[in-house]
Amino acid sequence: MTCPEQSCAIFGGTFDPVHNGHLRSAVEVREALGVAKVRLIPACRPPHRDQPATAPADRLEMLKLATRGIDYIEIDDREIKREGKSYTIDTLESIRDEAGTEVSMSLVLGSDAWAILDTWRDWQRLTDLVHVVILRRAGQEPDEPEVVRTWSRAKLAENPAALQAHAHGLICRIEVTRLDISATRIRELFSTGRSPDYLMPGEVIEYIRGKGLYNYRRPETLC
Ligand code: ATP
Repeated sequence: MTCPEQSCAIFGGTFDPVHNGHLRSAVEVREALGVAKVRLIPACRPPHRDQPATAPADRLEMLKLATRGIDYIEIDDREIKREGKSYTIDTLESIRDEAGTEVSMSLVLGSDAWAILDTWRDWQRLTDLVHVVILRRAGQEPDEPEVVRTWSRAKLAENPAALQAHAHGLICRIEVTRLDISATRIRELFSTGRSPDYLMPGEVIEYIRGKGLYNYRRPETLC
C-alpha cells in the first residue's frame, strides 16, 4: 500500500536562475503523475556540468520567491546544506529515509540528463529508491545509451498512473510543454541589458536587479 497524499515528484536542477520552463514543467508533472507535491531541489555543486554563476543562497531565495503561495510546490534545500558535490543518489537516500518505504516518489529527469544517466554515481540504484520519470517534448523519443536502454526495459510503465501504486522501481516517459527558455539565455539577457520579462516571475527579476546578479546591466545604459 502506498500513501497518495504523501506522494511526490522530485525535480532537481541548478535553477540559475529559475524560469517559467522549470515552473511550467512542475505544474504539468504534478498533473500527469497525480502526485501531492512537487519538490524542487537546487544543487549546491552539480557534478556533471559547469558550476552555477550565482551563490546557492541566491538560487534558493529565487526559487522561494518564484513559488510563494503555490501549495503543491516545496523547496528542499538539503543539497545546499550538505555542501560539496550534489550527487542525486545521496539526496534520494536521505529523502527516502525520511519518507519511509511506502510513499511513492518519482525523480523527474529532462531528456538531457537521461541521455547521460550512465555517468551518474550509482545510477543503477536510482530505482531502488524512486521511480524515474523522463520529460520529453511532443513527438520526441529520448535518446539513451544502450546500457541505460537495457537496464530500463523491464521497468517501463505503460502509463504514469501506475507509479502511484508502487513506492519505487518503475520508469515512465511523460510529455510536457517545453517552453523555449533556458537559464543560459536568461543570464545573457541580463548581462546585455535586455529584458527577461514574461520568461520568469517578476519577483525573481526584481531580486536579480536588486542584487545586481548575472552582471545585470540597466537597459537604459544601452546605446
Ligand atoms: P542552463 O541553461 O544553465 O543549462 P536550464 O535552464 O537548462 O539551465 P537547469 O536548472 O539546468 O535549467 O534544469 C533543471 C531541469 O529543468 C532539467 O531537468 C532540465 O531538463 C529542465 N528544464 C530546463 N529548461 C526547461 C524548459 N524550458 N522546459 C522544461 N524543462 C526544462
